[in-house]
Amino acid sequence: MLAGRNAVVTGGSRGIGRAIVERLCRDGAHVIFNYASDDDAAAEVVRKVRGDGGKVRAVRLDLADPDGPERLMSAAEEELDGLDILVNNAALCPAPAPLTDTDPAVFDQVLAVNTRAVFMTVRHAALRMRDGGRIVNISTANTVRTGPGISAYAASKGAVEQLTAVAAHELGARGITVNTVSPGATDTELLRANNQPQALEAVVGMTPLRRLGEPADVADVVAFLAGHDGRWITGQNIRATGGLA
Ligand code: NAP
Repeated sequence: MLAGRNAVVTGGSRGIGRAIVERLCRDGAHVIFNYASDDDAAAEVVRKVRGDGGKVRAVRLDLADPDGPERLMSAAEEELDGLDILVNNAALCPAPAPLTDTDPAVFDQVLAVNTRAVFMTVRHAALRMRDGGRIVNISTANTVRTGPGISAYAASKGAVEQLTAVAAHELGARGITVNTVSPGATDTELLRANNQPQALEAVVGMTPLRRLGEPADVADVVAFLAGHDGRWITGQNIRATGGLA
């Protein structure tokens, strides 16, 4: 379904990003993904995808670096003959803390990865993506279902949602769709690091589908938007939350 399509996915070495890389590759896309530090995890994704006959390459770079996003897109240009799909998935989510205990340096770091890097890769895609392309930015249910302790994270993702809506207008004439996918609680290392088991049980209790999300639950939504069937959806925020408002 995605044969002949070239994709860039940020943060593809684990969690939701890994599931997105594996799904897009299974659908036939040629994927480049980045990761920040975990060489072994990235190598395992590459080994698995290639073992299944897929085309993938991993690039280690920090999206918080001022030139990180451009380095990723340059690497993609060298490897791929054109860009069709961009998925901005990588993000930092610091341990919850009140505004007053949040170091401004942490705020800057979160905004650099979660917002500035998204702006830069979308900007690059706006200049170079082939007509009919797809951009999917991963946000979070927490921009709507907000609470204490996540000021930097929620602010960074709210900005991504607005950027997405504007880019959809700017790129629509070329048939490029730009959407947000907002996961709810999804069972990844990030989720387990930031939440006690009791808190996750409470989330499950409030979720109509009565479980945590799996990375593949989100990856399948991304794959739908990235494929032909998603062609008439743009500027939307698809909340992949198991029904949690
Ligand atoms: P995760 O398990 O923490 O994985 C994050 C990925 O991003 C890893 O591949 C990591 O690479 C990479 N990464 C992190 N910081 C980076 C940086 N500075 N530069 C480059 N790459 C970086 O995250 P996840 O739980 O799968 O979340 C994926 C997305 O879903 C995020 O946008 C998150 O906000 C969103 N989300 C998640 C949940 C949830 O419950 N899990 C809920 C709502 C939204 P390394 O491993 O090498 O560091």
